[in-house]
Amino acid sequence: MRKKIVAGNWKMNLDYAEGISLFSEIVNMVRDEQKGDQLAVICAPFIHLNSLAKLGGATVKIGAQNCHQKESGAFTGEVSAKMIKSVGCDYVIIGHSERRQYFSESDQLLAEKTAIALKNDLTPIFCIGETLDERNNGSYFDVIKGQLVNGVFSLSGEEFSKIVLAYEPVWAIGTGLTATSDQAQEVHAFIRQEIASKYGESIAEGTTILYGGSCNPKNAAELFAQKDIDGGLIGGASLKSRDFTDIVKTFN
Ligand code: PGA
Repeated sequence: MRKKIVAGNWKMNLDYAEGISLFSEIVNMVRDEQKGDQLAVICAPFIHLNSLAKLGGATVKIGAQNCHQKESGAFTGEVSAKMIKSVGCDYVIIGHSERRQYFSESDQLLAEKTAIALKNDLTPIFCIGETLDERNNGSYFDVIKGQLVNGVFSLSGEEFSKIVLAYEPVWAIGTGLTATSDQAQEVHAFIRQEIASKYGESIAEGTTILYGGSCNPKNAAELFAQKDIDGGLIGGASLKSRDFTDIVKTFN
């Protein structure tokens, strides 16, 4: 059975006190809501990570939203995977569309970040997804395949089986426009098929593939009921403890 994950992505929101307060609420609310192979994760800004891991890391896993591709060195302002691991994180988002778009992160760079995250025992949540133009001109399967091939398909089967994927159509992120469950399932099934062709059925069946893009307590149940959707990467709705918890509860 593959893991079911609801991961919050706080992005660049919440000062330190606000982050601690929201996280404390979330920990209290989801404590009794997670069953078996189900996990809640919060991916917070770097400054929060150490405290969040100490506060509730046993109940809600902690992740960063980015890491540098090198082990250490003269990279002013950057944070390494090893540092992230050292404060108690288990996850790191890699290749979010906002990083691809605003920080020009290429598939090649993201492949390096994925490798260093794995080396430091962090689970990458590797994001892929098409823009509105690519959806409308019908090239989205090619785009997604390219992101997989260039971003993560150079991993060995053993390495690949440790990562989580997140399909996030760029046109659905923060826009209130959600992919329909059919649109999302179509792409998730395609992704799983591509993984099967590259790594075989058993790795494909074991890979957790999250959906992200305006996921909320109202639409989560229908999305997560799809055969190939194993949870969500939640932006806006992860900034409200009640909404995030209701999404976590969707699996129950
Ligand atoms: P959203 O963001 O839920 O606010 O659309 C999702 C994401 O960017 O991961």
